[in-house]
Amino acid sequence: MESLNPWDAALEYFDEAAALMGLDTAIHQILRQPKRSLIVSVPVRLDSGDVNVYTGYRVHHDVTRGPAKGGIRYHPDTTLDDVKALAMAMTWKCAVVNVPYGGAKGGIRVDPHGMSRHEVERMTRRYASEILPFIGPNRDIPAPDLNTDGQIMAWIMDTYSVNVGHSVPGVVTGKPVSIGGSEGRPEATGRGVMYQILSAFKTLGMGVDDVSVAVQGFGKVGSSVAKLLHDQGCRIIAVSDLSGGIHNERGLDPEAVVRHVRECGSVGGFPGADPIANADLLALDVDVLVPAAVEGVINESNVDRVRARLIAEGANGPTTPAADRALNDRKVLIVPDVMANAGGVVVSYFEWVQDLQAFFWSEEEVNRRLRQIMERAFLEVYGMTREKGWTMRQAATVLGVSRVAEAWRVRGLYP
Ligand code: GLU
Repeated sequence: MESLNPWDAALEYFDEAAALMGLDTAIHQILRQPKRSLIVSVPVRLDSGDVNVYTGYRVHHDVTRGPAKGGIRYHPDTTLDDVKALAMAMTWKCAVVNVPYGGAKGGIRVDPHGMSRHEVERMTRRYASEILPFIGPNRDIPAPDLNTDGQIMAWIMDTYSVNVGHSVPGVVTGKPVSIGGSEGRPEATGRGVMYQILSAFKTLGMGVDDVSVAVQGFGKVGSSVAKLLHDQGCRIIAVSDLSGGIHNERGLDPEAVVRHVRECGSVGGFPGADPIANADLLALDVDVLVPAAVEGVINESNVDRVRARLIAEGANGPTTPAADRALNDRKVLIVPDVMANAGGVVVSYFEWVQDLQAFFWSEEEVNRRLRQIMERAFLEVYGMTREKGWTMRQAATVLGVSRVAEAWRVRGLYP
């Protein structure tokens, strides 16, 4: 049975790319380790008066091309290995879309769902204080990830700003527009996934109309992808969240599902759809499958059931290496996470640039530039697959690693 440890998977994909491209051995060894990893204790006073102590992390994988960049997640399965893997993926992701950042990730091992807003605020501010020496607009710029949002970024920005004595909007991205956030940031990851899928359709000679789509995970990314693809004419036949999924072959209206989730808390019980288990959603006979939840959902144990023709990885690390090999053997086209979901960090970059210049763009401007970058990355990576016979994941990883390696080469090893 294969290991489901995300760090093992991240190293396996990296080692494979290193071998394909003939990466310099020293640079390979350096990049197999994160540059620095911080583990912090996060004591939080609960509304009851009791204190809970959580473990938090912030990892910088590499900062050769610019400040470290990556999200912060609140999730009960978060471990140091998980955060290391996600930080490495951010390094390649930023390089694939060629934004001037290194890779970082952070998180707290906690399930925030049972917590009050005040408890989440106190936890966020304490975690922000603990990682304060690590972050900064030229050092490391956090952003939302699983179970974190614009409000949480606002609390981090405020905690940092109060401590340094002046307002520093550029210390986080994905914050509300009222304090220096960017138009278009909340749906940017989903929009980027849509651009990648449209590019894939074009190269496969497929039309958009009536293409069937299943989306696993109906959070910020999954719900945006579903809405945007629905607007393009695709048929969203199934979506799911932690509680399970809903299925209708004639197609769901994602806007109505979002309204239902707002009222009822989950997709379950949506009128006019049948319930479907997450495991069965992954096995639907669809044109496009978008895993947009957590790592390792497509693995050795269920890959034989997957029937989608195209998989666009909205989540980070949803496909394990063994499943990836099996899907490649069956000629399933996989648009890998480091490219498919890079729209979020691209618009984070736009947000940071706007903050540093104190000059803000319209949503049309943001979306136009995002589209340009996502289409360029797709064509570059797709071109490499044609030229070298590599998979999209191999080509995207090689492209990302080669940009980081080139930065390492010209900067040199100190001392
Ligand atoms: N959390 C997102 C990701 O995994 C966005 C990171 C960012 O914008 O810095 O790509």
